[in-house]
Amino acid sequence: MDRARIMAYVEAARARGVTHVAFTEHLFRFREAFELLYGWWDDDPDPALAKLACAYWQDHVSGSVADYVREVEAAKRDGLPVLLGLEMDWIHGRADDLARFLAPYDWDIVLGSVHYIGSFGFDDERFRAEWDRRQTSTVWHDYGVLVGELAASGLADVLSHPDLPKVFGHRPQSETPLHDAILTGASGAGTAIELNSNGLRKCGEIYPALPLLQRAHDLGLPVTLASDAHTPARVGEDFAALAAWARRAGYASATSFVQREPQTYALPADAP
Ligand SMILES: [Zn+2]
Repeated sequence: MDRARIMAYVEAARARGVTHVAFTEHLFRFREAFELLYGWWDDDPDPALAKLACAYWQDHVSGSVADYVREVEAAKRDGLPVLLGLEMDWIHGRADDLARFLAPYDWDIVLGSVHYIGSFGFDDERFRAEWDRRQTSTVWHDYGVLVGELAASGLADVLSHPDLPKVFGHRPQSETPLHDAILTGASGAGTAIELNSNGLRKCGEIYPALPLLQRAHDLGLPVTLASDAHTPARVGEDFAALAAWARRAGYASATSFVQREPQTYALPADAP
């Protein structure tokens, strides 16, 4: 992350009418996280999965969190409309290490996400074959337990792409048990629910599904808007669709986080 890249995101966002950009780099891209959490994958009894998870993390380490924080904070000081965020993978049994990773920095927003069940990185193509070895309802259940742990840890402000196990289209007969788990976790911890437009690209449906969102609304849980962009071209993508989805669930406003405090704003206009 350098100033040119930050500017590319800010300008692309502006062009779409998005006024602030929260940078939420993945935890696993940071060298410090790799060192701190190294070997977590070996808790999985399946050595083949552990090996895949290890290789995935190894391949994705691309910088230092200290440098990242410095760049984003410098941009902020210079008046750019940016927020310092992180997408924190929940790693079962490693809450203390995750807290240690977060502690030195003044985050605006910490997203919590579950990408691994044991070492099964269920949303990544490399692990696709593992889906055939497991029951969909079991994967959804196991994922829900981990989301509950993540919420209860109190480390995250937002539950990111909450119904991610639908990513490749594996959907159980009833999605209600997972929705129950997510809503119980979020209500207990006061965590926001992320509306994420990347679902439209990945599986033709926004994260999360509408029934979950409606129940989140009825429980008074805040929602955030996210494009999960990965590239400047996609920042703020499909926010009108997100706003329409939120309105259908009863929401009139969304929330952002500054210094980890929620800030409410009116939902952007729907698509024409
Ligand atoms: Zn994610």
